[in-house]
Amino acid sequence: MSFDFDLFVIGAGSGGVRAARFAAGFGAKVAVAESRYLGGTCVNVGCVPKKLLVYGAHFHEDFEQSAGFGWSLEKATFDWPTLIANKNREIQRLNGVYRNLLVNSGVTLLEGHARICDAHTVEVDGQRFRTANILIATGGWPQIPDIPGKEHAISSNEAFFLEQLPRRVLVVGGGYIAVEFASIFHGLGAQTTLLYRRELFLRGFDRSVREHLRDELGKKGMNLQFNSDIARIEKQADGTLAATLKDGRVLEADCVFYATGRRPMLDNLGLENVSVDLDEKGFIKVDDAYHTSEPSIRALGDVIGRVQLTPVALAEGMAVARHLFRPEEYRPLDYKLIPTAVFSLPNIGTVGLTEEEARSAGHKVKVFESRFRPMKLTLTECQEKTLMKLVVDADSDRVLGCHMVGPEAGEILQGIAVALKAGATKRVFDETIGIHPTAAEEFVTLRTPVA
Ligand code: FAD
Ligand code: NDP
Repeated sequence: MSFDFDLFVIGAGSGGVRAARFAAGFGAKVAVAESRYLGGTCVNVGCVPKKLLVYGAHFHEDFEQSAGFGWSLEKATFDWPTLIANKNREIQRLNGVYRNLLVNSGVTLLEGHARICDAHTVEVDGQRFRTANILIATGGWPQIPDIPGKEHAISSNEAFFLEQLPRRVLVVGGGYIAVEFASIFHGLGAQTTLLYRRELFLRGFDRSVREHLRDELGKKGMNLQFNSDIARIEKQADGTLAATLKDGRVLEADCVFYATGRRPMLDNLGLENVSVDLDEKGFIKVDDAYHTSEPSIRALGDVIGRVQLTPVALAEGMAVARHLFRPEEYRPLDYKLIPTAVFSLPNIGTVGLTEEEARSAGHKVKVFESRFRPMKLTLTECQEKTLMKLVVDADSDRVLGCHMVGPEAGEILQGIAVALKAGATKRVFDETIGIHPTAAEEFVTLRTPVA
């Protein structure tokens, strides 16, 4: 059977681009189809623009704190359209970078919606291509619960393109996106309320981290409403949104932002033409080498719903390219000890087991914790505290988990993740010389376990 391509990738996001480029680099004939934006979610409506907005929001505190160091500024004002226009320009530049990356690595780029016709045929805008292998890397899409008035709510997709900064925002959800966007809106000056349906947000993170962030956001004046959920949203004549909660309270806002998880993007993909099984949540089921139940079709990234993070999609992309075209270099991906950050203000950084996970896995646990006011704040009015925490296996002395809430937590935890991956014990941490004066040195000077 003759094919146009060895590999046809659907979706030029984090995972698809990585798989396509590496496969082409290994000598395969590769096509990638993209219907919306080069670089996918991360570059266009995810990690990158989000981090730019977080930087923007942090200036508010920087300006206030600079007074303690002798600076005086005219009253600082903020212009949302400028931030969004500059962000859009940067994203456009990155779209070009992605185009060049693909084209320069010899990948055929097809800009259009791809639909699978059979196990070896993909159609893009009426043109059919025969391919030995198909890779589904179509990512995810925000999911808003089906409540009356949901059409008045926005998701992260729209938040990046709002024309004005809303004066009052309700953020619904208690995961990464809700906490990050609540920090962005609050930092930029909007009256921000975060509504989460259970007793404490960031389920799955270490309890100390969740409580610490709750306290810090509360201190900054964010309105946190736990055990709260919206039953319906109505638009009033003046444009104000009235959100009626399940307990009967009514909250008014100019914007209701939902961050209640993401579904796999399978719209009009043609899966009915092949036998690709889905799991109970609707994500594509794959084995260790990302095969779906259809032998010529693989899938990776957010659409398989394992770990929805860009570096994971990248690693899966590389794994697929190797498994297909450089099997001798293939190593299955290790999903343990994946570090992650939540870019709230302050940031969370974490790697390894939470204290709760370590205990329920049967470890005898020693916990080391430090809470302190960072040196940078000592000349300021700001009372923000940093939290650092190590979870150690008492028998083997191995550090099982490391958690931080504070400035640059993501930057600090990346290095710690290397140590944990290498199997570092608490003794190794203790024998490491600190870098002084930094906040990070606290991780190598924690001596007394929490009682
Ligand atoms: P995507 O990047 O979503 O790419 C899928 C691509 O497929 C899209 O470009 C889409 O247009 C295209 N596509 C879909 N269907 C078709 C079709 N039929 N034909 C052609 N093309 C199609 N992760 C982090 O690690 N750090 C962060 O800070 C972070 N922040 C985030 C912030 C937000 C607001 C969001 C929403 C996500 C964030 N993520 C972050 C998660 C990260 O963006 C995703 O995990 C990552 O983008 C997944 O990559 P992917 O390749 O699976 O899919
Ligand atoms: P998450 O899955 O992280 O969080 C979803 C939140 O919405 C949870 O708090 C959940 O509550 C709540 N929720 C779900 N359904 C409903 C409902 N019907 N009504 C009310 N609340 C509901 O999803 P996000 O949308 O925040 O982000 C998606 C993924 O993108 C993340 O999991 C992460 O992998 C990735 N991401 C990574 C970032 C980073 O690395 N910094 C940043 C942003 C996103 P409950 O706890 O009760 O289930």
